Amino acid sequence: MQYSQTLLDDIRAAVDIVDLVSRFVNLRKAGSHWKGLCPFHAEKTPSFTVNPQKGIFHCFGCGVGGDAFGFVMRQDRLSFPEAVRALAKSAGIERTCASFASASSAELTSPLFIRCSSLMNSPSASAVLSLTTPPAATKGPASRCVS
Ligand SMILES: [Zn+2]
Repeated sequence: MQYSQTLLDDIRAAVDIVDLVSRFVNLRKAGSHWKGLCPFHAEKTPSFTVNPQKGIFHCFGCGVGGDAFGFVMRQDRLSFPEAVRALAKSAGIERTCASFASASSAELTSPLFIRCSSLMNSPSASAVLSLTTPPAATKGPASRCVS
Protein backbone atom coordinates (compact mmCIF):
# COMPACT_ATOMS: atom_id res chain seq x y z
CA MET A 1 0.00 0.00 0.00
CA GLN A 2 1.37 3.37 -1.00
CA TYR A 3 0.64 6.67 0.64
CA SER A 4 1.63 9.90 -0.99
CA GLN A 5 4.52 11.62 0.73
CA THR A 6 2.45 14.79 0.86
CA LEU A 7 -0.30 13.06 2.78
CA LEU A 8 2.19 11.61 5.24
CA ASP A 9 3.77 15.05 5.63
CA ASP A 10 0.33 16.56 6.18
CA ILE A 11 -0.42 14.05 8.90
CA ARG A 12 2.98 14.52 10.52
CA ALA A 13 2.50 18.28 10.47
CA ALA A 14 -0.95 18.00 11.99
CA VAL A 15 0.10 15.66 14.77
CA ASP A 16 1.78 17.12 17.84
CA ILE A 17 4.23 14.37 18.74
CA VAL A 18 4.66 15.69 22.29
CA ASP A 19 0.91 15.58 22.74
CA LEU A 20 0.78 12.11 21.19
CA VAL A 21 3.58 10.65 23.30
CA SER A 22 2.40 12.29 26.50
CA ARG A 23 -0.76 10.22 26.33
CA PHE A 24 1.46 7.28 27.24
CA VAL A 25 4.57 8.82 28.77
CA ASN A 26 4.94 11.40 31.51
CA LEU A 27 7.09 13.93 29.67
CA ARG A 28 9.06 16.80 31.15
CA LYS A 29 10.54 19.64 29.20
CA ALA A 30 14.34 19.55 29.04
CA GLY A 31 15.62 22.44 26.95
CA SER A 32 14.23 22.13 23.46
CA HIS A 33 13.42 18.45 24.04
CA TRP A 34 11.01 16.54 26.20
CA LYS A 35 12.13 13.64 28.37
CA GLY A 36 10.43 10.77 30.07
CA LEU A 37 10.64 7.13 31.06
CA CYS A 38 10.78 4.95 27.97
CA PRO A 39 7.53 3.03 27.37
CA PHE A 40 9.43 0.37 25.44
CA HIS A 41 11.92 -0.81 28.06
CA ALA A 42 12.09 -0.77 31.84
CA GLU A 43 14.10 2.10 33.25
CA LYS A 44 14.29 4.35 36.28
CA THR A 45 16.17 7.25 34.74
CA PRO A 46 14.49 8.96 31.79
CA SER A 47 16.38 8.33 28.58
CA PHE A 48 13.43 8.66 26.25
CA THR A 49 13.42 11.98 24.42
CA VAL A 50 11.01 13.68 22.09
CA ASN A 51 12.11 16.37 19.67
CA PRO A 52 9.07 18.44 18.70
CA GLN A 53 11.07 20.47 16.16
CA LYS A 54 11.85 17.37 14.14
CA GLY A 55 8.73 15.46 15.17
CA ILE A 56 10.73 12.45 16.29
CA PHE A 57 11.41 10.43 19.42
CA HIS A 58 14.49 8.52 20.50
CA CYS A 59 15.43 6.37 23.45
CA PHE A 60 19.08 6.38 24.45
CA GLY A 61 18.46 3.35 26.64
CA CYS A 62 17.10 0.82 24.18
CA GLY A 63 17.80 2.67 20.94
CA VAL A 64 14.28 2.86 19.56
CA GLY A 65 13.33 5.94 17.65
CA GLY A 66 11.22 7.26 14.85
CA ASP A 67 8.47 9.66 13.98
CA ALA A 68 4.83 9.83 15.07
CA PHE A 69 3.94 6.85 12.87
CA GLY A 70 6.75 4.79 14.39
CA PHE A 71 5.62 5.66 17.89
CA VAL A 72 2.02 4.63 17.26
CA MET A 73 3.15 1.44 15.55
CA ARG A 74 5.26 0.46 18.55
CA GLN A 75 2.93 1.68 21.24
CA ASP A 76 -0.27 0.21 19.82
CA ARG A 77 1.39 -2.61 17.84
CA LEU A 78 -0.06 -1.36 14.59
CA SER A 79 1.04 -1.90 11.02
CA PHE A 80 2.18 1.17 9.12
CA PRO A 81 -1.17 1.62 7.29
CA GLU A 82 -3.02 1.27 10.58
CA ALA A 83 -0.77 3.87 12.17
CA VAL A 84 -1.35 6.23 9.23
CA ARG A 85 -5.10 5.85 9.59
CA ALA A 86 -5.02 6.24 13.36
CA LEU A 87 -3.04 9.47 13.12
CA ALA A 88 -5.05 10.80 10.19
CA LYS A 89 -8.13 10.23 12.29
CA SER A 90 -6.82 11.92 15.40
CA ALA A 91 -5.53 14.85 13.34
CA GLY A 92 -8.93 15.34 11.73
CA ILE A 93 -7.51 14.73 8.24
CA GLU A 94 -9.48 11.56 7.81
CA ARG A 95 -12.76 13.39 8.27
CA THR A 96 -11.66 15.99 5.74
CA CYS A 97 -10.84 13.25 3.29
CA ALA A 98 -14.10 11.46 3.96
CA SER A 99 -16.01 14.63 3.18
CA PHE A 100 -14.65 14.39 -0.34
CA ALA A 101 -16.73 11.29 -0.88
CA SER A 102 -19.58 13.65 -1.75
CA ALA A 103 -17.41 16.36 -3.27
CA SER A 104 -18.38 18.27 -6.36
CA SER A 105 -16.33 17.84 -9.50
CA ALA A 106 -14.64 21.18 -8.88
CA GLU A 107 -13.45 19.98 -5.51
CA LEU A 108 -12.16 16.76 -6.98
CA THR A 109 -9.32 18.65 -8.64
CA SER A 110 -8.23 20.40 -5.48
CA PRO A 111 -4.77 19.57 -4.13
CA LEU A 112 -6.24 18.29 -0.90
CA PHE A 113 -8.35 15.77 -2.73
CA ILE A 114 -5.34 14.55 -4.62
CA ARG A 115 -3.51 14.19 -1.31
CA CYS A 116 -6.45 12.41 0.20
CA SER A 117 -6.79 10.07 -2.70
CA SER A 118 -3.93 7.90 -1.51
CA LEU A 119 -5.81 7.45 1.74
CA MET A 120 -9.14 7.00 -0.02
CA ASN A 121 -7.90 4.52 -2.59
CA SER A 122 -6.42 2.19 -0.06
CA PRO A 123 -8.19 -1.15 0.41
CA SER A 124 -9.41 0.15 3.73
CA ALA A 125 -10.90 3.30 2.21
CA SER A 126 -14.43 2.08 2.69
CA ALA A 127 -13.67 1.45 6.35
CA VAL A 128 -12.22 4.93 6.60
CA LEU A 129 -15.26 6.46 4.99
CA SER A 130 -17.70 4.59 7.15
CA LEU A 131 -16.12 5.78 10.36
CA THR A 132 -18.45 8.04 12.22
CA THR A 133 -16.34 8.77 15.27
CA PRO A 134 -15.70 12.49 15.47
CA PRO A 135 -12.01 13.34 15.46
CA ALA A 136 -10.54 14.27 18.80
CA ALA A 137 -8.54 17.13 17.35
CA THR A 138 -9.78 20.61 18.10
CA LYS A 139 -7.93 22.16 15.20
CA GLY A 140 -10.57 22.36 12.49
CA PRO A 141 -9.71 20.50 9.31
CA ALA A 142 -11.53 23.25 7.43
CA SER A 143 -8.57 25.56 7.82
CA ARG A 144 -6.40 22.93 6.17
CA CYS A 145 -8.66 22.88 3.12
CA VAL A 146 -8.05 26.45 2.03
CA SER A 147 -4.31 26.17 1.56
ZN1 LIG B 1 13.87 2.60 25.69
